[in-house]
Amino acid sequence: MTNTLLFDDLLFTRAGLDRAAHLRTDEAFLASLLTANTCGVWVHRGESPLDVDSNDGELLVTDGQKAAAFIAGDFSRLSFLGLDPDGTPFIAVHLKDREELDGEQIWVGLRDARKLPDLHASAFVTAVGLDNWRNKHKRCTVCGEELVVTQAGWTLHCAAHEMDHFPRTDPAIIVLVRDRDDRALLGRQASWPEGQMSTIAGFVEPGESAEDAVRREVFEETGVVIGKSNSALTYCGSQPWPFPASLMLGYQALAEHNAINVDQHEIAEARWFTREEMRSACEQGELKLPPSTSISRQLIERWFGEPLPGHWSR
Ligand SMILES: [Zn+2]
Repeated sequence: MTNTLLFDDLLFTRAGLDRAAHLRTDEAFLASLLTANTCGVWVHRGESPLDVDSNDGELLVTDGQKAAAFIAGDFSRLSFLGLDPDGTPFIAVHLKDREELDGEQIWVGLRDARKLPDLHASAFVTAVGLDNWRNKHKRCTVCGEELVVTQAGWTLHCAAHEMDHFPRTDPAIIVLVRDRDDRALLGRQASWPEGQMSTIAGFVEPGESAEDAVRREVFEETGVVIGKSNSALTYCGSQPWPFPASLMLGYQALAEHNAINVDQHEIAEARWFTREEMRSACEQGELKLPPSTSISRQLIERWFGEPLPGHWSR
């Protein structure tokens, strides 16, 4: 593997549903969703229940007929997610409350989603993204009127001034910084326990390129300076992370000046690791890296050259 290749095996980016956006306004198609052929996944506040009887770790699903009975005519509670390779439609059923489902459920969140089959992971991350967005956008941000769900869950419409609101995705950068000795820079957020470290990350600000955001975040949080030339940066790929609405843009960057001066607010500690130091610290449990679901872990292991042991979990 070379550093010029984009990641092609990240969680939530593999074998996704065909979003088939043209069907979101096709009334006949949308009516046909309420049949046994449709696969419905439940979603509530960033989590979905698992099918405890599935050997493949699948989500608990329902069909379109049962979903229609469940929502009792309130179609705003359904979103059309897309089609699987066989043409089976997937929908999300938005729950108001977990207790709406009978029986005990095991709920899975973004950090545990690595165990889901790829298609279910794709349905899950889309359902969570839409659910998080609509839960935070009940009213028009311009005039305050209540919003109505339209386009099969993909727009929120303000009837007062005929305006559509679209799902939000907030770009954030995440970067593995190397120095000229090929050491890697990791930081520990102030709220994390000792030993738990990750790559540097932060949101892209209005009017800013992703590349400038890499330079700014790394400098603000650690004092390390990335070169002005874009040849100091390599784009490695992106990962949706709707927690609540992020799209993580992964980079590797070369430091021009490697002196560390942490900001002490967001980052409590940062340090450079040689490969030997990182392997040893991981093996002894002194260093805990993010789980393999994350683009952060993939950036670290791409630099390191192979998988590393252990991870932190929250
Ligand atoms: Zn409005």
